[in-house]
Amino acid sequence: MQFIVKSVAFLSLVMWLPSCSSSIAPPLTTASGRDYWGHRPGPKGFRTVILDAGHGGKDSGAVSPYTRQREKDLTLDTVKRVRAELGSDFKVILMRDDDTFVDLDDRVARANRYGDAILVSIHYNSSGAATRGPETYFWRVDSHGLAVRVQQAMESVSPVESGNRGMVRRRLRLTRNPEIPCILAEVGYLSNSQESRLVSSAAYRQKMAKAIAGAIRMQSKIGDSGTGPLPRPINAPPSRPTDARE
Ligand SMILES: [Zn+2]
Repeated sequence: MQFIVKSVAFLSLVMWLPSCSSSIAPPLTTASGRDYWGHRPGPKGFRTVILDAGHGGKDSGAVSPYTRQREKDLTLDTVKRVRAELGSDFKVILMRDDDTFVDLDDRVARANRYGDAILVSIHYNSSGAATRGPETYFWRVDSHGLAVRVQQAMESVSPVESGNRGMVRRRLRLTRNPEIPCILAEVGYLSNSQESRLVSSAAYRQKMAKAIAGAIRMQSKIGDSGTGPLPRPINAPPSRPTDARE
């Protein structure tokens, strides 16, 4: 009896496993035929760049306690500078080009209209007064190389004393849900007095924009070459964000 019970238990386990694993296996492609999880090398040769100015309209984002500048204004200013720096080499789409509110899911849907494109979302950060430095978020494997390039570009402009916040692998709606390579760049902290004053300078934002545009251009030219090994694929996004710093 003991044996039979064990056999039945074993059999049911064997029968359960395949159906279980197939039910959690991710679909390989989306309805539009793209790799659903972005488990592929980074893009190369793309000609369309979608620039997303974070926040807008009723959503001001962070506000500097030092300069009173609003994140939504700084992000719009910065994406326009990046667009100008990219020039005619790329077809540049601005997610918003004025002070309007666009829901995050709508931003994802708009990004998914484009095929051979990348999405770069620009933000300015806020935290404790001592925290400073540029930071880049990514989630998908195919967005890693672009994140490396944009983070390095921002670090090249940011003064040494601001430090290096590095890259964070985090599932955000704009790093996980678009079907194209997508990153979110935090240019600097409005909550830090030195960095807030730094980013209030148009000349500093121009330098940042030029560096970010250079990173985008390099990614299109040589793909992931020189950006290090690809991160491990993640098939099952947890219910809460899981960060892995690099
Ligand atoms: Zn933001």
